[in-house]
Amino acid sequence: MMLYLTDSAQFAEFPNFHDYEFRCRCGCGLLHMAYCVLVGCQILRNHFGVPFYPTSGNRCEKHNVNSNGAIHSQHLFGRAVDLVVPGVPVHDLAAAGMALIPAFRDGGIIQYPHRGFVHFDVRPHGPYRDVR
Ligand SMILES: [Zn+2]
Ligand SMILES: [Zn+2]
Repeated sequence: MMLYLTDSAQFAEFPNFHDYEFRCRCGCGLLHMAYCVLVGCQILRNHFGVPFYPTSGNRCEKHNVNSNGAIHSQHLFGRAVDLVVPGVPVHDLAAAGMALIPAFRDGGIIQYPHRGFVHFDVRPHGPYRDVR
């Protein structure tokens, strides 16, 4: 069973992240993030020692359409995060997620070298890898 974070108080154990960074960006405030995604973010934060925040966490249906997200995007289910870590190349960020975080290794890792971010997810039927 997957645990989910649904309110700001639950973020207390992730000292470098806040609930508002993961809520849907359309303004609806949707927050339903898989706990293991936050664990992965904190491991990467500790590893690189550089502040960063997700460029996309949760997305509601409407925002997913407006973001040109996949129809069954893992962002809809709070199982995905898009990350940019300043000074860290996309390939290195993907490799770190693969090496350090079993939930990402078993899930999805999609590199977007031209847009400069990596999508990590904890999909139930992984692993999935792509470079777009
Ligand atoms: Zn929304
Ligand atoms: Zn994504």
